[in-house]
Amino acid sequence: MPSREKFQSPTGMHDVLSDDELYFQKIEKICENIADFYGFKRIETPILEQTELFERGTGFSTDIVLKQMFSFRTRGGDYLTLRPEGTPGVVRSFIQNGMINLPKPVKLWYSGPFFRYERPQAGRFRQFHQVGFENLGVKNPIVDAQIIQIFFNILKELGFKNLIIELNSIGDSECRGYYKRILATYLRPYQNSLCADCRQRLKQNIFRVLDCKEEKCQKITKGAPQIINHLCEECHNHFKNVLEYLEELELPYQLSPYLARGLDYYTKTVFEISLSENEPMAKEIGALVGGGRYDDLVKILGGKDTPACGGALGVERIVSLMKAKGKKIYSAEKPQIFLTQVGESAKKKSLKIFEELRKEKIKVVETFHKDSLSSQIKIADDLGIKYVLILGQKEVLNNEIIIKEMETGKQETVKLEKIIKEIKKRLK
Ligand code: AMP
Repeated sequence: MPSREKFQSPTGMHDVLSDDELYFQKIEKICENIADFYGFKRIETPILEQTELFERGTGFSTDIVLKQMFSFRTRGGDYLTLRPEGTPGVVRSFIQNGMINLPKPVKLWYSGPFFRYERPQAGRFRQFHQVGFENLGVKNPIVDAQIIQIFFNILKELGFKNLIIELNSIGDSECRGYYKRILATYLRPYQNSLCADCRQRLKQNIFRVLDCKEEKCQKITKGAPQIINHLCEECHNHFKNVLEYLEELELPYQLSPYLARGLDYYTKTVFEISLSENEPMAKEIGALVGGGRYDDLVKILGGKDTPACGGALGVERIVSLMKAKGKKIYSAEKPQIFLTQVGESAKKKSLKIFEELRKEKIKVVETFHKDSLSSQIKIADDLGIKYVLILGQKEVLNNEIIIKEMETGKQETVKLEKIIKEIKKRLK
């Protein structure tokens, strides 16, 4: 007989099984608390957006748009794309919902799945999760420092110690034009030694050559002029202020003169946060957080001129590193009560008792599908349960229930109407 085909999840896309779910929840909870403290409100945007939003927002010449988008045409003829990153969707929503009229800054955060057609490898998937923070409406460099601090705090609270913030300024539309010409003059003689992508980038967006991960390109860019030495006065002062604020906050940053980040919309500050290279798996996994200022994006996408700054962390990368460091996460609340029943009338009655316990927020495990008391007690024992409730025919007739303390074996019979009170007394 031919064996039946086994379905697999799509390449680079994974199920988040219950053990990993605990890590995901922990990360999300910390982000939620931090967002609340810093005054960020949650936003959910659709997983699909118009393809053009990313083409114009993320940028036509970026790897994301050129190579990594899952795009398709709907039955109605629209071109849509599974969101490869969060910022363009948030900005679209900001414009569409008239958030420009809200008091500034508008602080938004999000958490959810993102999609990029990447070559799957450690820390790089085709479906992954990000948590992002975006601050819209303020030009002041203190915002850049606060965004960096938020992500730094999240990673600290997750127990990471040796963190490195890499920082650069890529100027604005004015000083960047001048720098691009200087960079072009430097790169021109090396044209033929660059990788094919970079040769293309020379024409489309020369800045992106600085981002290339190919060794032969990195060897060339190592000697390239640094934008930081060619910033206009405003960008220079902005960056200087960001550094001063980071120092005030005692955040461990290092200048990374060729950090350009892959996206077209950044202006001025760009940053990445990683674990120090000597930590297990840190190098393979890469940056945990990436972000920067994007003062032109709202305008590019059709809104009013609005400065903004933000970033996003990669949940899967953080989970991998937490595991590599041997951090275990346990389910927050382990049940201490186990409800057993013997006989049909007890089974019926226990359905109601179970619901009463739920209403009182008492965590309880049931085994309604089991009939024998000994097999139910065995499960309770395996789970390390503290108190087992036993309901048999006799107890149902007398309107009573037995509470058995597993450690001592001590049993006590109590009236059914007192069960909640009796349990709460014991769990105190
Ligand atoms: P980016 O949107 O490229 O700036 O990425 C921000 C963060 O998301 C990175 O620092 C990673 O932690 C994470 N990330 C980006 N792309 C992927 C991917 N393909 N798989 C897993 N995590 C990713």
